[in-house]
Amino acid sequence: MMPAERILHEAIQVAPLGLTDDVKRQKIENSLVQMRLSAATARKIQDIFRSEMNKGIHQQPSSLQMENTYIPELPNGTEEGLFLALDLGGTNFRVLLIELVNGVIVREDVKKYHIDAHLRTGSGIPLFEYLAECVSNFVISEGLQDVELPLGFTFSFPMIQHSLETGILLTWTKSFNCPDVVNKDAVKLLKDALARRADTRVKVVAVLNDTTGTLLQGATQDPNTAIGLILGTGSNACYLERADKVEHWEPERHGEREVIIDIEWGAFGDNGVLDFIKTDFDRENDANSLLVKSFTFEKYISGKYLGEVVRIILVKLLKDGLLFTRETPKKLLTVGSFLTDYVSLIEQDTVDGGGSNTKEVLAKFDIVPDEEDLKIVQYVCEVASNRAALLVSICLATLLDHMEREEVTIAVDGSLYKHHPRFESWMNQYISLLSPARKFKLIQTQDGSGKGAAIVAAIALKLKQRLE
Ligand code: ADP
Ligand code: MG
Repeated sequence: MMPAERILHEAIQVAPLGLTDDVKRQKIENSLVQMRLSAATARKIQDIFRSEMNKGIHQQPSSLQMENTYIPELPNGTEEGLFLALDLGGTNFRVLLIELVNGVIVREDVKKYHIDAHLRTGSGIPLFEYLAECVSNFVISEGLQDVELPLGFTFSFPMIQHSLETGILLTWTKSFNCPDVVNKDAVKLLKDALARRADTRVKVVAVLNDTTGTLLQGATQDPNTAIGLILGTGSNACYLERADKVEHWEPERHGEREVIIDIEWGAFGDNGVLDFIKTDFDRENDANSLLVKSFTFEKYISGKYLGEVVRIILVKLLKDGLLFTRETPKKLLTVGSFLTDYVSLIEQDTVDGGGSNTKEVLAKFDIVPDEEDLKIVQYVCEVASNRAALLVSICLATLLDHMEREEVTIAVDGSLYKHHPRFESWMNQYISLLSPARKFKLIQTQDGSGKGAAIVAAIALKLKQRLE
């Protein structure tokens, strides 16, 4: 091994499990051996990710969609006016009114709305009528029904874009499933529903997802921002690409130099290219999920699944007689019962060298652990979390190499990144080792799916005015 590869290899290993019983320790480490990636595997994943990105951008079959967002520039501090944002697909459905002066948000009014299950899983028409009704109510309550208001629509689902203001839904995810909307333009459905009401002067000018919003929001904090990353319920990233590299571009070009590309990396590996790292735990996680055999990469890393991966491993160790031998913790057998929030709590114990959080979490499952149990549970959380952070870092490092920029700031949003006590430091370390020639910085952003939508609406307006 070359010295650099040895350093990488050592850095990505987790500390050995500290049990006095050597045989037991060995058995547990062996059960988890496939969860621990070597430097050689990390390099192989880098090669595959690079190849999938290139195929995607050249319109060849790939698990990466590399979708053109048609956003050709970042905010530059000239954005002005009143804008609406509609945020669908995150934890809350919200309408926002944002006022920009010199690219800075000087006013922000937000209202959250509840979407009933029957609207989330029925026909699309009632859903979009409800969205339009919420927009109208909000605008009227602000006394702005007679003002022309540009709206940015954050629609955080995989879509195909033919322009800045068309978003053809590829598939619903999360808790939504209105089958008749698939393959339809979500923007047109919203525009039509607003037109039928005809009680406001709202103009939908752009559609985007939360990842793109995060990049734009980051760009207002740091002008070097060129990557947006989500590590929350799901995971995705987008980046600023050179326009001449982008083949899929439907409307007429106007000399754009750059454009934001939405990688849609949650689906990385859906075509089998990552199967060589798939463990039995991952297969079970997939089988227990809502959308089987899709979102392969997301299932390795994101908040919706990390806790479940940990639970599946714990149950396996339990069944092999290596863990919680004093009791049968029935609650742990329930799919989805082990939240990723718990993983963060337990990892905090590992950071602090304590066990109180771990005990508290296990008490929720009526488990009273002994000292060895505590160590094993902490080890499992560390191994699963470390793999997730490493996989994200592998893709980011590859992306940095691909972008060939002097300096890149990566804007990150999502509760997993913000609350897990080790993600940020692991990512800083791993990206540096995997892409040593590149200068990068990770920054946290707040509410890219809301504020970012208003910024896109402002950019869309500038683009329109330039063409007039
Ligand atoms: P969304 O992705 O829906 O916009 P968030 O970014 O807040 O919203 O992510 C919520 C997800 O983050 C939850 O589904 C959960 O899996 C995960 N999460 C929430 N709290 C924590 C935590 N303390 N540690 C790790 N993950 C968390
Ligand atoms: Mg979010």
